[in-house]
Amino acid sequence: MGPPRFKRRSNMQSIRFTRNARFNVLDNGRLRVPKIGDLKVAWSRDLPSAPSSVTVIKTPTGEYYASFVVSVDDDTDALEPIPDEDAETGIDLGLKPFAVMRGGKVIDNPKFFKRMERKLKKAQRALSRKQQGSSNRAKARIKVARVHERVRQQRNDWLDKQVKAIVAENQGIYVETLGVKGLSRGRAAKSIHDAAWGAFLGKLESKAQRAGRTFGKVARDFPSTRLCSTCGALTGPKGLEGLKVREWACGCGTMHDRDQNAEINIRREGRRLVAEGLADT
Ligand SMILES: [Zn+2]
Repeated sequence: MGPPRFKRRSNMQSIRFTRNARFNVLDNGRLRVPKIGDLKVAWSRDLPSAPSSVTVIKTPTGEYYASFVVSVDDDTDALEPIPDEDAETGIDLGLKPFAVMRGGKVIDNPKFFKRMERKLKKAQRALSRKQQGSSNRAKARIKVARVHERVRQQRNDWLDKQVKAIVAENQGIYVETLGVKGLSRGRAAKSIHDAAWGAFLGKLESKAQRAGRTFGKVARDFPSTRLCSTCGALTGPKGLEGLKVREWACGCGTMHDRDQNAEINIRREGRRLVAEGLADT
């Protein structure tokens, strides 16, 4: 495949690859670099944790060096890379279930979402009935704030658990940018659910990066639900109507589970963007 091409700046030339560029240190000690291949490395020492980037340097005398950035204060979060090509998942977010991953693996909404929605609604209704400027109104406002705080804590505990499992099991994680799927429910419900999606994506991205995983986001307008993952036609359900459709048939003869089909599309698109260096997050 030939040696890497370098930017010409001085006699010393270098090229840098980040995790998102999918470089990898393999079990056999070789360094896998996109579009170049597996390079034999004379290691000067062991890496203390998964590197977040590698810079390949060519000296004026024509020698090549690989220099890794590793995080040591934070290395409790760094995980061993999973070399398995299939250890990758897309994540299709929804109202019900919360998320669908590769192979139809489902993350259900936790029961406390509903419970907290009811509590929040009740507290908000009580607040709205109190007279402006009254001390009862002040108390009611504190009560609403307390429910919000409790929701946030419970939600974060639950999200941390989900995120930890996903990052442990997958070397590549691809998500969609939040769009407009979260319609059609009450305001309290929507606020809890939408906040959970946003927090989920934020936590997932940061944990994936600290662990040295590949993370990619597909564009908001990418038609993950409409695209047939078999033939590539835009034959799937769309818009609000699509929220109700669980299964659909494409003209090419494939029957799709809506969410599983979307996961496949998100995974493929995420991989493509990362491979082309377009998914820098
Ligand atoms: Zn099709």
